[in-house]
Amino acid sequence: MDCLFCKIASHEIPSTILYEDDLVCAFKDVSPQAPTHFLVVPKTHIADLDEIREENSAVIAHIFEVIAKLCKEQGLTDGYRVVSNCGKDGGQTVGHLHFHVLGGRSLAWPPG
Ligand code: AMP
Ligand code: ZN
Repeated sequence: MDCLFCKIASHEIPSTILYEDDLVCAFKDVSPQAPTHFLVVPKTHIADLDEIREENSAVIAHIFEVIAKLCKEQGLTDGYRVVSNCGKDGGQTVGHLHFHVLGGRSLAWPPG
């Protein structure tokens, strides 16, 4: 499958990987929107939030454990934001489920 984040997770395309294990990969966003901006993806291909089912949802809990660990490592003691854009209206541009983690500055709410 021609999927950018499958290729990053399998090291076919280089990226700055912050963490990986059998299930997930975390890497720096190539176009950072905050001083800290990384993405966390499942290594198996899940298209978006809408594709989460009982059979594949265990990895989602693991992703959030990894996010908490990485945010501590990155020193985001003042907080951070986790975002997953889904579909056209959500502004999703890469069709492999990913969670943005943004921190290091104050973030506006609501988003545009
Ligand atoms: P979204 O628009 O929510 O689908 O987010 C896709 C994100 O992937 C954007 O923030 C892009 O900057 C990021 N991105 C695209 N290509 C790469 C890449 N090769 N390495 C790291 N991040 C990427
Ligand atoms: Zn994929």
